[in-house]
Amino acid sequence: MTEIIDGESVAADVRDAVADEVSRLSDAGVGPGLATVLMSDDAASETYVSMKQRDCEEVGIESFHVEIDAGAPASELYETIDDLNGRDDVHGILVQLPLPDHVDKRTVLRRIAPEKDVDGFHPENVGRLVAGDARFKPCTPHGVQKLLDAYDVETEGADAVVVGRSDIVGKPMANLLIQKSPTGNATTTVCHSRTEDLEAKLAGADIVVAAAGIPEFVDGSTLKSGATVIDVGINRVDADTEKGYELVGDVDYESAKDVAGAITPVPGGVGPMTRAMLLYNTVKAAGLQRDVAVDLE
Ligand code: NAD
Repeated sequence: MTEIIDGESVAADVRDAVADEVSRLSDAGVGPGLATVLMSDDAASETYVSMKQRDCEEVGIESFHVEIDAGAPASELYETIDDLNGRDDVHGILVQLPLPDHVDKRTVLRRIAPEKDVDGFHPENVGRLVAGDARFKPCTPHGVQKLLDAYDVETEGADAVVVGRSDIVGKPMANLLIQKSPTGNATTTVCHSRTEDLEAKLAGADIVVAAAGIPEFVDGSTLKSGATVIDVGINRVDADTEKGYELVGDVDYESAKDVAGAITPVPGGVGPMTRAMLLYNTVKAAGLQRDVAVDLE
């Protein structure tokens, strides 16, 4: 029987733990705060940001939101970040990606104070992750790590394949899987758009993390029987629904579900975990900045 990995349920547990820590912090006089910055007209980005604000409210984190016109000069975004870096009531800063073409993403990510970088994308935090001394693990791969842990998926000695090498998902995911830790210790192969014979790599994988951004790209026929399949992909495809589209992952769920030992659905797998780990990082950031111990695993 294939186990369906329930991201909603694990994310609810993370949110409960976060809410407990928010009340402990508030007893210590600290009200954790997250600032979201949106510089885009993209409807999906707007939705993501408003979901993050709602999530904050649910666990008692104060949320602040800044919207910058997508056509404004980059300097306006820099000034906003500088202002948020200096605020005592803002412990985490999230600049929603993607940014307009005239704004250099790397410059923006470097501008966020590393101790408020709850996305974990600042080079200092990337370096710490690689060095095995993470301050903030990026939310999506951290969420995947939590799912593997929650479902007792053995990573030690396992062969893992990560499909995708983005800075947001693929690279940090691989880094987490190779750490010498109870949730690491996997022999990890990172596949990407120039990988030859992806099928051969997938055929030997005990754990597959699919993050290529291509709808239903990984077919069940290419998977090892009993593999754990984590589908990070969220792709809108045209469909005869009220909205005119439906969300599908990077794995062809129908063909994969009978081959896999465990699999995440889309939606309801990795997505809720990404959102929950942002709350986790925000509370951790507040504790670090105000020197109050935070008890989150
Ligand atoms: P990206 O476009 O930045 O990266 C895609 C990666 O896939 C690239 O590294 C590329 O080399 C690789 N790739 C492309 N074609 C390939 C091929 N034929 N074979 C092997 N690798 C190939 O995307 P991303 O930001 O990493 O996101 C990946 C997917 O995950 C998207 O669908 C995105 O929407 C989704 N996503 C979901 C969450 C979540 O919370 N569930 C969070 C972030 C991203």
